[in-house]
Amino acid sequence: MYCANCGSPMDPNAAVCIHCGYKAGCGAHYCTNCGNAAIAGATMCTHCGSLLASYVAQNAKSKLAAGLLGIFLGSFGVHNFYLGYTGKAVAQLLITLLTCGFGSVVSSIWGLIEGIMLLTGSITVDGNGLPLKD
Ligand SMILES: [Zn+2]
Ligand SMILES: [Zn+2]
Repeated sequence: MYCANCGSPMDPNAAVCIHCGYKAGCGAHYCTNCGNAAIAGATMCTHCGSLLASYVAQNAKSKLAAGLLGIFLGSFGVHNFYLGYTGKAVAQLLITLLTCGFGSVVSSIWGLIEGIMLLTGSITVDGNGLPLKD
């Protein structure tokens, strides 16, 4: 692994870069996977194809927000719309709407379980495979 700020090789267990002091995974100049220079604003590394730390940091969805949405608005699939799991979200919404609300017992329990899984860390990526942030 490499520092995303200065491109120096880094111990994978280190929390900060010993060269520049940046936190691991922070910075927008280098690929953390291969250490090559990253193009500003790019989504992934042109050398190895791994997602860039700057992109992940900007686009990571909040685990807490998604969990709370699931617990309180799970019957409408709001947490899954937020995370980009559109298929599941539509299913939960339809269960609620097509049964005039009777099915919301099912979809809200489903949403509640997913909300708890999000908060406890059982779900760690969004619908696009990006890691969630705390
Ligand atoms: Zn560094
Ligand atoms: Zn790379």
